Amino acid sequence: MTDTSVTGAGVAGTSMTGTSMTGTGVAGTSMTGTRFKVYCSQCREKVELAAEEFRLALGRTKERTFYSFTCPACGAAVRKPAGEKIVAALTGAGVSTIRLLQAVEG
Ligand SMILES: [Zn+2]
Repeated sequence: MTDTSVTGAGVAGTSMTGTSMTGTGVAGTSMTGTRFKVYCSQCREKVELAAEEFRLALGRTKERTFYSFTCPACGAAVRKPAGEKIVAALTGAGVSTIRLLQAVEG
């Protein structure tokens, strides 16, 4: 003899409740203050620099697109190739962009 007890679940009636807009404070996004961590190719030091410390040179080809900065650790002028993501990140942070003109050849 097994006594099976079924527990009836009461279905709650769906009621249209008013939507309350909860105001959330939007954190102020400042255009400055973005910092990038980069490796110095000279002293191998990992340094953190503000966006304004960088220079971005956009060439006609990927091979000619690079970013440069002065290493705060050793003072070397470092130049590195900049991929699409780096270009997007740097320009988004307000890094000074230099468009390289076509070199006069011949
Ligand atoms: Zn360095």
